[in-house]
Amino acid sequence: MHAPREPFQPAVPAPWQRAAAGANLLGPAGRLGVTIFEEMTTLAAKTGAINLGQGFPDEDGPAEIKAAAMAAIDAGANQYAPGKGILELREAVAAHQERFYGLTHDPQTEVIITTGATEGLAAALLAFVGAGDEVLTFEPFYDSYGAVIALSGATHVTAPLLAPDFFPDLAALEAAFTDRTRVVLLNNPHNPTGAVFPREVLQRVVELARRHECLIITDEVYEHLTFGAGHIPVATLPGAAERTITISSAGKTFSFTGWKIGWLTGPEHLVAAVRTVKQFLTYSSGTPFQAAIATGLGLPDAFYHGIAATLREKRDILSQGLRAAGFDVFTPQGTYFVNVDTAPLGIRDSVDLARRLPELVGVAAIPVPVFCHPAGAERTRSLLRFAFCKKVEVLEEAAARLATLSGKL
Ligand code: PMP
Ligand code: GLN
Repeated sequence: MHAPREPFQPAVPAPWQRAAAGANLLGPAGRLGVTIFEEMTTLAAKTGAINLGQGFPDEDGPAEIKAAAMAAIDAGANQYAPGKGILELREAVAAHQERFYGLTHDPQTEVIITTGATEGLAAALLAFVGAGDEVLTFEPFYDSYGAVIALSGATHVTAPLLAPDFFPDLAALEAAFTDRTRVVLLNNPHNPTGAVFPREVLQRVVELARRHECLIITDEVYEHLTFGAGHIPVATLPGAAERTITISSAGKTFSFTGWKIGWLTGPEHLVAAVRTVKQFLTYSSGTPFQAAIATGLGLPDAFYHGIAATLREKRDILSQGLRAAGFDVFTPQGTYFVNVDTAPLGIRDSVDLARRLPELVGVAAIPVPVFCHPAGAERTRSLLRFAFCKKVEVLEEAAARLATLSGKL
């Protein structure tokens, strides 16, 4: 039996997370607050700002994938999918893992389809951790990690990523492991920093996970969005596969973030444990979208190279604009996010700036401290994240608007 849960404390008690009067009655839900993505997208809509905050493309993905979804709807694929996902998509995920990484998985027992990576992460964490356990992540960390770890009752321990490359301090990483570490939750390529971790870092994580007998849950949703060295799935490293659950999703690769089709692969006994939890979260999801994403995963290599090349150009366009606006730019090697330091413009608090930026210049962005616990928030206090998965003309207009910022501060 788990001990009673500690009340949830938000990662950063930022203004938008301040609990409403009486929120204590709501338990953990009252303390989670509105996500920064929702907050900034709402603000962008209200002010008519260009939304470079929440990461979603402003163009649809491939026409053949859309056509496949419509055909599936027409063909009557409109009732519940099996809990673990339709076989066609499980087979396509297994084929994708083999084609790109040489990983082999039995689509019957080692692959499940989830409602986006978000559900895969939640189901995996809830399957393996509870009160008394520690979950180790890098910091900054994607926002749902902090929330789900808290909901599970486990303790969230972090190891810092350090500018300018946002690689971890390996000594701090080693020191963050304890005999209560049950899961190390990785994210590579990394949101929000855009870091792509080199093999040595990943290998070190695997060694430490083995030494401390813990599981690795790895979130690789940006696996195809890298601009230099290709993606290295943790599960391909020596000694990793037996203890690793790999999570990905269709949202980023195919530009259909609203379809919420994700997947998870790993050893049979681990996948079975996640499936048990997943049954009671959503049971299953998006039957016709699953069929369509099976089509997507089968697209030729040229498609995958094309998305990375296009994004790389967009990264460079926005980065140049951000530099011209006076920010220090940390060039990302993956994802569709670029981080800047606002300090050269005399700004000390990116949370405050992010809340004013839409009114000031008509652009929305996400402050990096919200992805941190208090010490990390202090370390990243002047950092701001911009999404560049937008049309070139939109990025150029955003850059032009940001160029006026220094005169308005
Ligand atoms: N993990 C990371 C690192 C993300 O950036 C996101 C957001 N796209 C997710 C998970 C959630 O993915 P999905 O939309 O497939 O649930
Ligand atoms: N992953 C997206 C981002 O980091 C947001 C997804 C969401 O709103 N939950 O911007």
